Amino acid sequence: MVDLKSQYEKIKDEVNASIQEVIDTTAFINGPQVKTFSANLEKYLGVKHVIPCANGTDALQIAMMALDLQPGDEIITPSYTYFATVEVVGLLQLTPVFCEVDKDTFSIDVNEIEKLITPKTKAIVPVHLFGQSADMEPILAIAKKHGLYVIEDNAQAIGGYYTFSDGTRVANGCMGTIGTTSFFPSKNLGCYGDGGAIFTNDNDLAVKLKMVANHGQKEKYIHEIIGCNSRLDTMQAAILNVKLPHLDSYCDARRKVADYYDAAFAGNAKIKTPFRAPYSHHVYHQYTIQLQDGINRNEVMNRLKELGIPSMVYYPIPAHKQKMFENTHRPSTNLDLTNWLVEHVISLPIHTEMTSEQMEYISTHFLNIINTL
Ligand SMILES: *Cc1c(COP(=O)(O)O)cnc(C)c1O
Repeated sequence: MVDLKSQYEKIKDEVNASIQEVIDTTAFINGPQVKTFSANLEKYLGVKHVIPCANGTDALQIAMMALDLQPGDEIITPSYTYFATVEVVGLLQLTPVFCEVDKDTFSIDVNEIEKLITPKTKAIVPVHLFGQSADMEPILAIAKKHGLYVIEDNAQAIGGYYTFSDGTRVANGCMGTIGTTSFFPSKNLGCYGDGGAIFTNDNDLAVKLKMVANHGQKEKYIHEIIGCNSRLDTMQAAILNVKLPHLDSYCDARRKVADYYDAAFAGNAKIKTPFRAPYSHHVYHQYTIQLQDGINRNEVMNRLKELGIPSMVYYPIPAHKQKMFENTHRPSTNLDLTNWLVEHVISLPIHTEMTSEQMEYISTHFLNIINTL
């Protein structure tokens, strides 16, 4: 599904030198590379503050802690997402209110959000799933109208942006109150271990986010609030400093693969290729197809596997069906589409290093299998 080795080969000398520098200076924790990376990413995204942390799950947790969300506060978020989004909601004893997703974009259905708002609602957490931003303009309008925070889970769509109706473009993760991301190796901007970051344009909130990520302290040994210990390793920051200038070309490479698949699969009534929302610059963290009813997904996957083609199901079980939330989530609107999607989606390999031979091999065999089922 990914080819991190070939990607590394192309930037090997620079990456190795950056790691060696960290070792030579032994600045393993909070070394200067961490600050440089934050500044580089702030500039790239056009956001005032980037607060680095240990991973994308921590980033979400720190965001919710910095907003002083209290047990019982309701958080509106899709059930169809990677579990980390909702796991932290549970960890902080907040109440998840699961929202249906849009049938085309897989992201939160903006027409369903308002029905779920109660006096207890404090935040909306849209997820820019598979590399495409949720429809942020109406989400921000709803949030403003009801006085809600917006936390963008941008673990899968860094490098992409949203275009507002007046033509303004804003980087994904930088539109809401807070945005979060992950540098897990397979993400669009991945490091060589764990890493994450939090974005905000709010100066006061930035101070609070830094405190929460650093044991609740501003000054050493003065602990003002409950925090945690969540840092981006200097070595990971050094690697990310090398990789960030390549992010746009990495996203372009993914978009080229998507273009190829889209053209190859065009007009096939048995599958629905990923929708390209006009407001979103899609960066294809995944290439996720919807199989129409009656196609046996297991058989498709097994036959692909026999041909040496990996495929994945993101995600087989939605959050509202996880045991962890059996008793704690507030019943929301029916989630029929979410329930349908988890049974019908399939993701094909997409990454920065795919060759035209690989794209041709995969798409030809995938089509053959689909057409014989
Ligand atoms: C990867 C991911 C996360 C969590 O990131 P980690 O760095 O693995 O903790 C959160 N949300 C989404 C949507 C993700 O894809």
